Amino acid sequence: MSYFIVTFIGLFAIVLMLIPLLRQLIREGNDLRDCLRAAQSDLVETLKQSEYYRLACDHARDGLLVQDMSGKIIWSNRSFQKMHGYSEDEIIGRNPLEFVMPDENTPTPEEIANFRYTREELETQALQLFKNQRRDGTEFWNQLNVSYNKAPDGQEHAIVSCRDVTTDVVKSNTLREAQKRLQREATHDGLTGIPNRSAFLKFIDGALIRAHSVTVGLLHIDLDRFKEINDTHGHSAGDAVLVHAAQALLSTAREKDLVARVGGDEFVVVCPDIDGFGALHALATRLMDAVCEPFEWSNVILQSEVSIGGALAKSHLTQSKDLLIESDFALYEAKRLGRNCVVLYDQDLEKRHHLQMRRASALMEAIDTDGLDYVFQPKMSLFSGEITGFETLVRWNDPNEGTIPPNDFLPLVDDLNLMGALDLLSMKAAIAQKRELIRLGYPDMVVAFNASPELLNHPEFINRLVWMVEAAGINRAHIAIEVLETTNFGVSTIQSSSAAILRDLRTAGFLVHLDDFGIGFAGLAHLAQLDITGVKIDQGLVSNMLFDPTSLKIVRKLVELCNDLDLAVIAEGVEDEETAEALHQMGCGIVQGYWLAKPLPPEDLPDWLAHHHKNPMRA
Ligand code: C2E
Ligand code: CA
Ligand code: CA
Repeated sequence: MSYFIVTFIGLFAIVLMLIPLLRQLIREGNDLRDCLRAAQSDLVETLKQSEYYRLACDHARDGLLVQDMSGKIIWSNRSFQKMHGYSEDEIIGRNPLEFVMPDENTPTPEEIANFRYTREELETQALQLFKNQRRDGTEFWNQLNVSYNKAPDGQEHAIVSCRDVTTDVVKSNTLREAQKRLQREATHDGLTGIPNRSAFLKFIDGALIRAHSVTVGLLHIDLDRFKEINDTHGHSAGDAVLVHAAQALLSTAREKDLVARVGGDEFVVVCPDIDGFGALHALATRLMDAVCEPFEWSNVILQSEVSIGGALAKSHLTQSKDLLIESDFALYEAKRLGRNCVVLYDQDLEKRHHLQMRRASALMEAIDTDGLDYVFQPKMSLFSGEITGFETLVRWNDPNEGTIPPNDFLPLVDDLNLMGALDLLSMKAAIAQKRELIRLGYPDMVVAFNASPELLNHPEFINRLVWMVEAAGINRAHIAIEVLETTNFGVSTIQSSSAAILRDLRTAGFLVHLDDFGIGFAGLAHLAQLDITGVKIDQGLVSNMLFDPTSLKIVRKLVELCNDLDLAVIAEGVEDEETAEALHQMGCGIVQGYWLAKPLPPEDLPDWLAHHHKNPMRA
């Protein structure tokens, strides 16, 4: 019994002793479970992360690479493989430099084998661009971005991301090319490839600024009769002449000179460091000879002539615009002297230029203030002996120089682009004179005025003419418009705007006379194509006809032809009775000339008419 009790107590004591231990065990069991749970969730998290990495690598649009420091690929993502057209296995162990398009900078296999990255290089390298080749040979632009990584185990790697930027590169190349092209177009002439006006202006300004101790020369070159080449052989021949001229100038000018095309058939050569007028003249002559050299084009030999005007800067203070004006004036003189020559702006020319400028401003003023004068030259019918009308002729009384004839100042008016304005005034004077003649009791007389091409093409011309004639109650058939035969009626006469104006004038009921007929080369074709009512046979032919059998034959045929065509024939420049008589015999209707009367000032008309109208034939 006591044994049993002892045993029981013993067991009880053991149980008591074990209780904390068991408690401890239960507690630790719980901890273990927590630990396991935490480990499990860490694992899940890690797995999740690596799945994200995989997702990111597989679906990233950029190619991704891990290389060792010798450049060998250890790992690549799908995009990289797709971009290059190789499988993963084919890529491992290769160096991306192998995919670079071969050119002179491509590394050799040996260089690739010896390739090594440095840490510094990887950490500092900016974006790189390579033209790569895919497996199928197609090319693409690859933009690389490299970085450095060192693993905990000490392994070093290059991490590369790459992107196919072909579209961007092509776009920016196109843009750059377009920019370059635009820049070139802005400064160069499209046809000849030489600098244009704006490049020339920039160059000459620079040359003048630099020219402290030396002189700058400017040559202004104009192709003579360029229009004729265009009209005869067509525009491509004209283009060939321009290209030839540009090349001839380029190859003859000195290296420091600038040759530019500044207008249709106009070129300039800027000559820095030129040693005075002698050197400039010698250079201009060489340039002229080179341009005038004949050349073959499409089985025809083309040759152009040139007029050259030149000027020298007087000091570095000379402005390019002054040099331009001076060389331009010299060119104008070269043309006036018969073209195909060189004229330099020397002291003599400078004097003439100043006179011209004074004249120009006085002329502008005269036109502006309706300050020109008019004289009227009578025309007479050879059949009835009656005065049929007058031609209005402009005169300019310059306060300094006195009366200047139109042939002396009209070229200047033309240069000032004022021919249209001047002719509107002549038209006004003609209509006023017509009114005066009606008032004086000569209601049927025809008054004519000269119409330049500028007047014909003046937008206000016909409207103003009709309005003035209507306002004055004048019969339109008593107004004649004299149009020069040399007016450009275009290759296809019917379509030219001047020809259309003549038609409109005729439709409106005015008379239209072709002036100076017989000297223009389109001659007879004009008679057939233009809507005219009469011709004025050129005074050169008329005044020669009694001495020169050819002129006589031409005048006779022209009179005959015009009579056949029912056109009025007026012979001008008739200076004697014999000529008037001969014209009468031929059947010429009307004469005008010194034999009958010189052009008369308006105040002399009443008296003159009173004496001549009834019995005009001289004794
Ligand atoms: P045109 O229209 O042929 O005028 C005839 C010219 O010959 C006039 O010269 C006249 O004075 C001159 N003349 C007349 N009869 C004779 C003669 O028997 N012998 C000689 N040797 N000459 C004679 P003008 O007035 O000096 O005019 C010259 C040219 O100026 C005109 O030639 C005409 O083309 C132009 N012109 C004159 N006035 C105007 C105008 O208001 N507008 C335009 N656009 N041109 C005009
Ligand atoms: Ca005339
Ligand atoms: Ca004439």
